[in-house]
Amino acid sequence: MAKIGIYGGTFNPPHIGHIRAANCAVSALGLDKLLLIPDRIAPHKVMPVGSPEPMQRLEMVRLSVAGMPHLEVTDMELNREGPSYTYQTLQTLLEQHPGDTLYLLIGTDMFLTFRQWKNAEYLWKNAVLGVFYRGERDEKSAIDQCKAEMEALGARVVLIQNPVVDISSTQLRRMLVFHCADPFLPQGVGDYIRENKLYGTGECYRNLPMAELEAVVTGLLKPNRVAHVLGCRDTAVELARRWGANETDAARAGLLHDITKALDGELQLTLCREYGILLDAFFTKNPKTLHALTGALVAQRIFGENDAVVSAIRSHTTGKAKMTTLEKIIYVADYMEPNRDFPGVEKLRQLAFTDLKEALKLGLTMTLELLKKQGSDISPESQEALAYLNKSL
Ligand code: FE
Ligand code: FE
Repeated sequence: MAKIGIYGGTFNPPHIGHIRAANCAVSALGLDKLLLIPDRIAPHKVMPVGSPEPMQRLEMVRLSVAGMPHLEVTDMELNREGPSYTYQTLQTLLEQHPGDTLYLLIGTDMFLTFRQWKNAEYLWKNAVLGVFYRGERDEKSAIDQCKAEMEALGARVVLIQNPVVDISSTQLRRMLVFHCADPFLPQGVGDYIRENKLYGTGECYRNLPMAELEAVVTGLLKPNRVAHVLGCRDTAVELARRWGANETDAARAGLLHDITKALDGELQLTLCREYGILLDAFFTKNPKTLHALTGALVAQRIFGENDAVVSAIRSHTTGKAKMTTLEKIIYVADYMEPNRDFPGVEKLRQLAFTDLKEALKLGLTMTLELLKKQGSDISPESQEALAYLNKSL
C-alpha cells in the first residue's frame, strides 16, 4: 500500500518554495510519490499580457522537479472542462490508486477555511490532510484548534512543519520584471520564462511613453498604493510648473518613486545583491528603507530613466544635502499628495507652493521627530539634509 501526496496550486510560476515544501512533505510523511497538480485557471479570468498558457505552467513544473524521482507532475486538472474542484481530482486519483493512502497537502490558510470547500467531508473522509505550517506561535494555536475540531468530525490531520521560503508567485512576477528572480526559481525555470518571454520578460521598458509607463507601473504596485503614486505624480507636476522644473521628469519620477515598494525587506536585499550593490551599515540594518535606493536602480536599469529622475527617486525617503529642485519636489510631493492625511499636512501643502525649501525642511523635521519617537534609526542622509538646510537658510 503506497502513500501518495497530492499538491495542487496555480504554479504561476513555480518557485523554490513549492519544491522545498514538496520535498519536505515527502520526507515528513514518508511518501512514495508526490503529485504536483497545476490548477486550471478559469478561462474567463482576465490574465495580464505575458501570462503562460496552461501547458507552459505544466512545463515549468516539469522542469522544477527534474531529477527528483519522488515528485511527479500531472495535467489532470488542466485537461478537465468546466469548474475544477479538488474532490473531482481526489475521485479520479482514488480510482487510479485503489488501496493506497492519499495525502492532500494544503497550506495553513486553506486548512483554516477547509470546511467551506466544496464537498469538504468527502475530502477528509478519503484523504489524510497534510498541513504545511511555519511554526509561529499564533499560527500554531489556530491550527491546533482547527485540527482538534476536524479530528472530532473524523478527519485525519498531519501537521508538517516547513521552513517556508518567503516568496509568493505575485512577488516573483515583480522580481522577474526587475531581472532578479533567479534566486527563487527552480533550475531551468528562469531560462524557460525568458525564452518564452513570459511575465513581461520579453518587453523592453526603457523610455516608455507616459501612458505606457503608467500602465506598467500600476501593474507592478500593490493595488492600495496606486492612488498614492498617481497623486504623487500629479502633485509633482504641479510643483514642477510652480518652481520651473522639468514637468516630464517630475511626472516620471512621481510615477516610479515607489516602484519597488511592494518588495519586502528580504527581496529588497536580494535586488541589491543581484544588481551587485554593496550596502552600508544603515541599509543593512534597516532594509525596509531600501525602496528609494532599489527604486532608483530599477528606474535606471529597467526603465532607462535619466539621471535627474533617478536621483529624485533615490532621495525621496531620506532627502540629502544640496538637493536639486526636482529632488525637493519629489520629496515634498510624496509627503503631501492628496491621499495623505496627518496633522500638519495642510501647512505643508501651502508651504510647498510658497517656499519649497521650507516645505522640505518641515517634511524632514516631521519625519525625524516621528522616527525618534518610534525609537527607529535615522539615516545619515536625513541628518545631513537637515543640517544643510539649517545652515543655508
Ligand atoms: Fe516611498
Ligand atoms: Fe511614496
